[in-house]
Amino acid sequence: MWRACQRTSVWQVEAFSMTGVLALQGDFAEHVRVLEALGEKATLVRLPADLAKVERLIIPGGESTTIGKLLEQSGLLTAIKKRAKAGMPIWGTCAGAIVLAKHIEGGRADQKSLGLLDITARRNAYGRQQESFETSIMIPTISKKKIAVAFIRAPILTRPGKAVKVLATRGKEIIAVQQGDLLATTFHPEIPGSKQFHYYFLNMGSH
Ligand code: GLN
Repeated sequence: MWRACQRTSVWQVEAFSMTGVLALQGDFAEHVRVLEALGEKATLVRLPADLAKVERLIIPGGESTTIGKLLEQSGLLTAIKKRAKAGMPIWGTCAGAIVLAKHIEGGRADQKSLGLLDITARRNAYGRQQESFETSIMIPTISKKKIAVAFIRAPILTRPGKAVKVLATRGKEIIAVQQGDLLATTFHPEIPGSKQFHYYFLNMGSH
């Protein structure tokens, strides 16, 4: 797939793939916008039947407690876990990263999550002074250039398991990880409209 991309344009991806964006709550529209700018077909996922149509899934930012509750009510919690076991790539941004995590700190006692990613997500980990901010980060695995991203009441990831590769840190804090076909970022590249992470995600598993 990567070679095919190079022949056309760096940002072009293959036309046959279909990416799902979980659309129960949160900033799913921004993800769809970036995917479409890359020439990728995107569809909103609200029910297990929608999930059946997609090859990969983005879980957007929003409120992880609400997303977890709606995942269970819609039947998607079980359906997504099943697809993940079968190797479907999933990327969680911010609340999406929390929903993917095995352990949650500062969550509600009854908080529902997929528990697929061997890591701890500490909710709302930045102090009030800097709980939301935009910045540019350098992540060599993803891009040779700095990537503009937004942190919005972001979590911090801690205690990565053996299978977890840390892709980026900010100071001592882990902000991006990959575990096989699972990707998690504590920030939002889709809010400033950065395309590099989406491009990386679309090519995951195809190298
Ligand atoms: N603070 C939110 C939560 O814990 C996440 C915020 C976000 O997704 N931007 O669910």
